[in-house]
Amino acid sequence: MSPTNIAEFHNFIDGQYRPGSAGATFDNTSPVDGSHIGLVHEASVADVNDAVVAAKAALKGPWAAMTLADRSAMLYAIADEIDRRADDFLAAEVADTGKPASLACHIDIPRGAANFRIFADSVKNVPGEFFPTPTPDGTGAINYALRSPKGVIGVICPWNLPLLLMTWKVGPALACGNTVVVKPSEETPGTATLLGEVMNTVGVPRGVYNVVHGFGPGSAGEFVTSHQGVDAITFTGETRTGEAIMKAAADGTRDVSLEMGGKNPAIIFADADLDDAIEGTMRSVFVNCGQVCLGTERVYVERPIFDEFVNRLATEAKAMKIGVPDDPATDLGPLISLEHQQKVLSYYNKAVEEGANVVIGGGVPVLGDDVAKGAWIEPTIWTDLADDSVLVVEEIFGPCCHIRPFDSEEEVIALANDTVYGLAAAVWTQNTSRAHRVASQLDVGLCWVNSWFLRDLRTPFGGMKASGIGREGGVHSLEFYTETTNVCLKL
Ligand code: NAD
Repeated sequence: MSPTNIAEFHNFIDGQYRPGSAGATFDNTSPVDGSHIGLVHEASVADVNDAVVAAKAALKGPWAAMTLADRSAMLYAIADEIDRRADDFLAAEVADTGKPASLACHIDIPRGAANFRIFADSVKNVPGEFFPTPTPDGTGAINYALRSPKGVIGVICPWNLPLLLMTWKVGPALACGNTVVVKPSEETPGTATLLGEVMNTVGVPRGVYNVVHGFGPGSAGEFVTSHQGVDAITFTGETRTGEAIMKAAADGTRDVSLEMGGKNPAIIFADADLDDAIEGTMRSVFVNCGQVCLGTERVYVERPIFDEFVNRLATEAKAMKIGVPDDPATDLGPLISLEHQQKVLSYYNKAVEEGANVVIGGGVPVLGDDVAKGAWIEPTIWTDLADDSVLVVEEIFGPCCHIRPFDSEEEVIALANDTVYGLAAAVWTQNTSRAHRVASQLDVGLCWVNSWFLRDLRTPFGGMKASGIGREGGVHSLEFYTETTNVCLKL
């Protein structure tokens, strides 16, 4: 998307939209029906270099001269302008992802704007460090810490919540006075491109926010992460990609923040409020067609309520309406792409080979001819798989889960932790002591009790083990996006 032609997705470099200097383009196609949305202009090495040079220069220009209060006010203006243009952002996000508009207008777009406000507030309110230090001569010293921006931040984004997850990084990066070079997912170039218009409208100095389009290896993703002018890299995406980025960041000893994959458990105890647990698990398994990093793919249910839980979840899942984004009745849109559909389907086939009981789904739904080329998939529930089945071990990132009974707290904690990942968990019980006991023993960065996806943006967000490095959110983001200088002043 560019100001002149909405079928073209240009790079946004130094405050200007421009095509890739090497003339390379690729198609952006709709996951709903395979139709052509537009042409994306792939950034070359030279374009990425221009973006980094512009971002570096902007660190010394009017952006650096702004007071904290003025910068915070500018972040509020960005948020307000996103809100004012919510319909444009919604259209771009829905076109790229195929997700229900009813979902994107409640989550993706408003949260995309909120991310600028919360960090504008955080930077104004976080206190500095101060230590009075005794010295042998009795006069003493004072130590205080100064925070400064880290520099140019490379922001590498996924496709599942494009605006929300991008601004989750760009918001705090700008709040702390950094400049950014954003590489949106090749699947979802729209909202990051559109945000350039917002930056220009509210007067963000040129070079502060840059967008380069392309793929990962051998393309814009690698060009950004390997560029030595990029001072730190923040990434959300697959664990495998995060490992490659961490290796790239080792060159030049640059900092990384990695938010990666998961294989998240939900644990339902027999004393849970079953209505709440079903409602929450329906969302955690199926929302956004199962393409949420925090989503549930392993469900553990205490044996006395196992059959009832499986039947109720299956009944509700079967009743979901699979459909196009602008139908308000749609519960489930398509997957992001035909390629991802094939990946999810291969897991569905493996489940059958491994002897799963397919409770519902397992295939591709038959929809009308007009959407026959879309990346549709059935919501799917399995039981009876072994604990070491690939379905139970690997992240699928589709609308599916395996449900397994358990008999004791100790057993279910061991099962939940038996994974290389450690992102999120949901625990359903009315016993508060048990809730706390279990939550404190789960190896995860986020544990919800009797809820899911309830977020306070001031809290730490991130994963343990193969799910990530570092935490973002509230003051945790400020840790990553700033450098600290300790000043020791002898009195
Ligand atoms: P992905 O890793 O395939 O791609 C993410 C981004 O990395 C894209 O922009 C891609 O072009 C880029 N990229 C790929 N290879 C690269 C390389 N070698 N160097 C530099 N950049 C490279 O992930 P995806 O498929 O877009 O997203 C889905 C994944 O993201 C899932 O695993 C999901 O769990 C994870 N995710 C995690 C969180 C979290 O907060 N932990 C949130 C959302 C998604």
